[in-house]
Amino acid sequence: MAIKTIGVIGAGMMGGGIAQVAAMSGYNVILRDIDMKYLDKAVANMDKFMARSVEKGKMTEEARQATLKRITKTTALEDLAPADFVIEAVLEIIDLKKEIFQGLNKVCGPNTIFATNTSSMSVTEIAAASGRPDKVCGMHFFNPAQIMKLVEVIHATQSSDETIATTIELAKSFGKTTVEVKKDSPGFIVNRLLFPHMTEAARLLQEGVASVEDIDTAIKLGLNYPMGPFEMFDMGGIELSTQIMDYFAQEFNDSHYAPPLILKQRLRAGLIGRKTGEGFYKYDKK
Ligand code: NAD
Repeated sequence: MAIKTIGVIGAGMMGGGIAQVAAMSGYNVILRDIDMKYLDKAVANMDKFMARSVEKGKMTEEARQATLKRITKTTALEDLAPADFVIEAVLEIIDLKKEIFQGLNKVCGPNTIFATNTSSMSVTEIAAASGRPDKVCGMHFFNPAQIMKLVEVIHATQSSDETIATTIELAKSFGKTTVEVKKDSPGFIVNRLLFPHMTEAARLLQEGVASVEDIDTAIKLGLNYPMGPFEMFDMGGIELSTQIMDYFAQEFNDSHYAPPLILKQRLRAGLIGRKTGEGFYKYDKK
């Protein structure tokens, strides 16, 4: 199936990055959010990112202009009609994702594939609600999508082989390396391994075993990871992390996956990192 036009739903941190990657790879992109202000912000961020690439000699000015021209902003779901492939990157709320796929099913042609960028949730459940379950799968990018090389391609129980093959091919055309997640399971590969590590780091801090800085240093120098868990909390925000931890605890029937008290308190106090600039490095560095 020849893909020319890609729809991206949600113009936040991930959707904006994915839309940029798709447009830079030569696809026409229709980017949808609920308010034009989010779309304007996303395109301004892309432009800033590409301006830096031009300055560094990694991109030509012509390529920057051509990339921007390939992106259409819209708040209307109906405008996704010409899309050959749609990537959903709205909030991590399963009912919202289901509703969007149901809406898209009415708008898009019967061969259009729908992929979800969910970090943790059941692709099988989302596929079941979509009205075209064999044409749904997971396509999990990492933050920032413009830079991170990995895409996890996740089989819903119902995904056809063709859907998976087309999605892998598309991710490769974006310059990404793919791994195939053959069975739908919470958090797939990366987040299934990452979140217990993040939860345990929060417990170490809560128990006073070590400081934020020393836990991050230990992980970076002891395991050769590029970032420590608290740098990751502050970059990604505690909101999404705690949602994923709660989801794991519920799905695996195991409270050990649940967010520790320190994360719940910070969340309720609005100290959620990324969006407020108030993270662990502000309050718990020493
Ligand atoms: P975000 O909050 O930055 O962006 C979400 C966007 O979706 C917002 O702009 C919001 O206005 C928009 N939105 C809400 N309802 C909508 C609707 N009905 N139609 C269109 N747009 C709508 O969130 P994010 O961090 O970009 O995460 C998006 C998805 O990607 C989530 O499922 C998340 O789990 C996943 N993800 C996040 C990361 C990360 O590190 N942040 C990494 C991989 C995957």
